Amino acid sequence: DELISQIAAGEVVERPASVVRELLDNALDAGARQVTVRLASGGVRLISVEDDGLGIPREELTVALRRHATSKIASLNDLETVGTMGFRGEALAAINAIAELSILSRFAGADGAFALDGRTGELRPVARAVGTTVEVRELFFATPARRKFLKTDATELAHCIEAVRRHALARPEVGFSVWHDGKLMEQWRAADRREQRLADALSDDFVAQSVAVEHIGGAVRVAGRAGIPDAARSRGDQQFFYVNGRFVRDKVLSHAVRSAYEDVLHGQRQPVYALYLEIDPSRVDVNVHPTKIEVRFRDGREVHQAVRHAIENALAAPRA
Ligand code: ADP
Ligand code: MG
Repeated sequence: DELISQIAAGEVVERPASVVRELLDNALDAGARQVTVRLASGGVRLISVEDDGLGIPREELTVALRRHATSKIASLNDLETVGTMGFRGEALAAINAIAELSILSRFAGADGAFALDGRTGELRPVARAVGTTVEVRELFFATPARRKFLKTDATELAHCIEAVRRHALARPEVGFSVWHDGKLMEQWRAADRREQRLADALSDDFVAQSVAVEHIGGAVRVAGRAGIPDAARSRGDQQFFYVNGRFVRDKVLSHAVRSAYEDVLHGQRQPVYALYLEIDPSRVDVNVHPTKIEVRFRDGREVHQAVRHAIENALAAPRA
């Protein structure tokens, strides 16, 4: 059973950044407005994610660590329309199997906060404001082979920060900060416009050298920004796709963008973009992969066309 849970964990957690991603999903699902990520040694020694969301009721704390325990969907039918980032109820159980996990939480309306030790299951009262802090220490301590597989702290840290950035670009109204070994690495204040967050979390240049995308094609709405061709830099790290608020990688989407740019970039360089698709949840399957980074569209052609037209129109429009 121990082995089974460690194998399952391997599918969800490849490296510290995977833990960061899952904990951020949970914080955002809980309605957080401010999220603080603290890391030590690239996240291997410590990943702590603190939020000011709804919190977890005392009686649900221990349940949250069980496999397939989720408070977010009640039946398989709900998967069709899942509106939260999480829904599989696997992340905390998986992380608990491969690291030292503790959860500190105070539920909105409760008169106290509690800390749960993931190993012993011990619950004790603590003091904190409404919200949740999940602390993950010594990732892969029981699986040295996996731990050896990790890259340098600097590389793991970069992946962790990228995981935070991906969430931050989807949720400008939420403030994020990232600390590493006691040093503030990134801080993005809550913003009321997406452009502001793109400027803060990517660069002012990203916004200045891109055009607004706004298009509706069939059942797909496409918004965001696309780099202008003459400023296009080879930055594979500034290509962001979101589907219903979730960061994804998808061949249909990247192919659609490439075809839109084909005539203007001649395949020489890579466009930069941050594109946000809204699509009826029943037309996209998000339960394709444990990390939820892949999706499957019911009608890939429709999506491809919508994205392609969205960018072609944006690039063709006269710039102000
Ligand atoms: P999932 O997100 O798929 O439901 P997880 O294993 O990530 O599964 O989390 C299990 C449960 O723990 C969640 O359904 C939620 O009820 C609770 N939970 C986890 N993190 C938080 C958080 N930061 N704030 C509030 N509740 C949380
Ligand atoms: Mg989750």
